[in-house]
Amino acid sequence: MSNRTFTMIKPDATSKGHSGAILDQIIKGGFSIKAMKWTRLTKEQAGEFYEVHKERPFYGELVDFMSSGPIVAAILEKDNAVADFRKLIGATNPAQAEEGTIRKRFAASVGENAVHGSDSDENAAIEGDFFFSKLERF
Ligand code: ATP
Ligand code: MG
Repeated sequence: MSNRTFTMIKPDATSKGHSGAILDQIIKGGFSIKAMKWTRLTKEQAGEFYEVHKERPFYGELVDFMSSGPIVAAILEKDNAVADFRKLIGATNPAQAEEGTIRKRFAASVGENAVHGSDSDENAAIEGDFFFSKLERF
């Protein structure tokens, strides 16, 4: 069990002005921010980040969407961070997400689902390294 996870506030949520409310829910949920940036992925970078989904039918749509506007990327710390963060964000499809979860509150569809959360300790480390240098984490 690791105490860190990685998140992105996705382009649908940043463009609707939900970044502040989502960060507020994350912090009130007991996570502390160890690194954070406002940035925008190129198509190539989005494709690399979601490379595990390359063979899935929604890959092209996912890459287009994730490079369509700015995102907030962050490394978060809390005991049991990966599992607890997945609980806080809710199911991939917001229609199936529990009441009060970030995706239930802010996501419109399975494709445009407001936030990303790492699915394992190993991927949390890989994804954090994708965005942040040693000098950018505290
Ligand atoms: P994320 O990795 O973004 O936190 P997740 O782990 O809940 O989401 P994954 O199975 O890893 O879900 O899928 C990655 C992303 O691909 C989803 O968040 C969603 O944006 C998109 N996606 C997944 N399934 C579909 C689908 N059936 N149609 C369209 N987009 C999808
Ligand atoms: Mg995932």
